Amino acid sequence: MSSSRNFSRRQFLTTAAGSTAASVLARPAIASASANLFGATRSFDLGISGDLLPWRDQGVINTSRSPYAKLHGVPVHAVTIEEGFWYKRRKTNVEKSIPTMREELESHGRMNNFRRLVGKSSAPQIGPYFSDSDIYKWIDAVGWALQSGDRPELHRITDSMIHDVVAIQEPGGYLNTYYQGDRASLRMSQHDQEVGHEMYCLGHMIQGAIAYYRATGDTTLLDAGMKMVDGFVIPNYGPGPNQKPIISGHPEIEMALIELYRTTGKKQYVDLAGHILHGDDRWKIDPHRIVYMFCGVPFTTRTKLEGHAVRAMYACCGATDYYLETGDPAYWKTLNTLWEDLTRRQMYVTGGVGARAQWEAFGDPYELPNAQAYGESCAAIGNLMWNWRMLAASGEAKFADVVERALYNGINSGMSLDGTTYCYRNPLAFDPSSGDKIRNPWYDVTCCPPNIERTFSSLPGLFYSTSKDGLYVHLYDNSLLDWHLEDGTPIKVQQRTNYPWEGEVRMTVTPANAREFTLYVRIPWWAEAASVAVNGKAQSGARAGEYLAMRRNWKPGDVVSLNFPMTTEVLAANPRVAENRGRVAVRRGPIIYCMEQIDQPNGVSLADVSLALDSKSGGEFQSEYKPDLLDGIVVLHHRGGVLETSSATEALYGPVSLATPKTRQENTTFIPYYVWANRQSCAMEVWVPYMRT
Ligand SMILES: [Zn+2]
Repeated sequence: MSSSRNFSRRQFLTTAAGSTAASVLARPAIASASANLFGATRSFDLGISGDLLPWRDQGVINTSRSPYAKLHGVPVHAVTIEEGFWYKRRKTNVEKSIPTMREELESHGRMNNFRRLVGKSSAPQIGPYFSDSDIYKWIDAVGWALQSGDRPELHRITDSMIHDVVAIQEPGGYLNTYYQGDRASLRMSQHDQEVGHEMYCLGHMIQGAIAYYRATGDTTLLDAGMKMVDGFVIPNYGPGPNQKPIISGHPEIEMALIELYRTTGKKQYVDLAGHILHGDDRWKIDPHRIVYMFCGVPFTTRTKLEGHAVRAMYACCGATDYYLETGDPAYWKTLNTLWEDLTRRQMYVTGGVGARAQWEAFGDPYELPNAQAYGESCAAIGNLMWNWRMLAASGEAKFADVVERALYNGINSGMSLDGTTYCYRNPLAFDPSSGDKIRNPWYDVTCCPPNIERTFSSLPGLFYSTSKDGLYVHLYDNSLLDWHLEDGTPIKVQQRTNYPWEGEVRMTVTPANAREFTLYVRIPWWAEAASVAVNGKAQSGARAGEYLAMRRNWKPGDVVSLNFPMTTEVLAANPRVAENRGRVAVRRGPIIYCMEQIDQPNGVSLADVSLALDSKSGGEFQSEYKPDLLDGIVVLHHRGGVLETSSATEALYGPVSLATPKTRQENTTFIPYYVWANRQSCAMEVWVPYMRT
């Protein structure tokens, strides 16, 4: 895989940052031209197609008119998440994470990159060439957050930032701080399309603009995104004889273009996305880059996940969006082939993906190291976004199960509990002697922090979908849905639960009037003995990993009682995952657990601990809810064996002994993986050795 001609974003910093820093800003002012167009906040419907949903009612992805979508998301504002598991996390996100991230972006010059181009800042261009995307992802996070309630100060600051962004747009539509000024001649060359992230930045601008539009109706940024596509991209790039090739060096533009179509009704955006997904054979691309970029050959020729993990996940998102609009069966076949590869050979138990630090890439099949795991937060988010789209296409619970797995574990781990520091990589084991500081407030490549923020902001939009025949329930937490069925019947659904710590969920279903429809409730893959009752009457057919479809005449106040037994299970990995031989992971409900050194008895080194399992699967765990520990978690205790002779004193090699090693019994403690590294730097492991007792 490795090739000196490939770039990862982090490696870019060491190779190209020098030239970045050395560049001199030059070009002042295209401001006067753009000020007239974009000087004032605009707020109105785009009015392009009469049957588009009103802007405020469009979901996280708006599949309301997608002909191959079985499910249609509800808007973020339709679901109010109430006191419970996600409430505090989201409150911290909007009150701490989003504001402190804006300060970080400002103090690291990311907004001055825009202001300098119109003479409002004398600071030099700073940061890698995709730095604009961090601003857009932050605006994306704000957009979804404002759908859960207006925040005038945040709204005002974001408006002001958007004005600074659009002020640099050239009359022809081009907008990218890195390629305006003295680098203008480099724009969209083959080299820069491969590594320069111009289309990636445009994609994030469009996504951020759409989120902000769906919250506020403000089209200022959206107009700028459309102007760049309509005025600069489409006239110059595409399959036509007078157009130049276009490729996606970092996939992202594909899903953004299709969402732009869903927002405006302009079909040409789908066509352009399809062309990019197909690849352009007028350019010869280095085979290593075709792997690394997950772009450059027809998407439908892919047979496995490889290359840069975030790129691959985003390409899959775009390809699924393309399928949702076109129904091209070759895409659906490829997407399912890749999904099988993901879930059978490439995904961490946490829902994280991308094993290798080198090139931030997928490894070989079953190459899933623990301490060396890369598991970039953005890749887990890409995994969630892709599975959300596959779910929309199919209505199959297996995709929602991956959404839940990634959300509670591999994404949730990426932000500290206080909301101010972030993981770039999410390893499954940690040795503090490595000196690695795993959570940081800022990264020069700061893709992950605002990506996590936008995921938490948009979370209410992932709880439910509607379909022609009813309503799907995907996620469980205290919440109120206030929306309507597709026949227009208003409906409210109130969830009451202590999920994920307890498995009972009480749902009160209140259509405006009695109405026959199907309520689909997701039975998680791990809930083997799940039971469901309606108004106290047991319902048959609940199977783990499927939706239970209940068609009936639903009346206001009907109560659905779900019970997902919260047993603790010990998981084994496929023997081909070399590092996990002789080890197990612990899962309770959707939560994957880990051991941190700090929780173990004094003097016990994690390296010397084994979990003592009896013949019953999983042995006996005691669970204990600790409201004051790590914002309230269920900890697990279990018997363990600690080596009598510390492994630190053993020789590196010695004759094999078939005798059971001498151990003393100790009580071991497990905490949810997502809260690791929130106290002090100490050893951690998800996959724990076990001994049979
Ligand atoms: Zn990232």
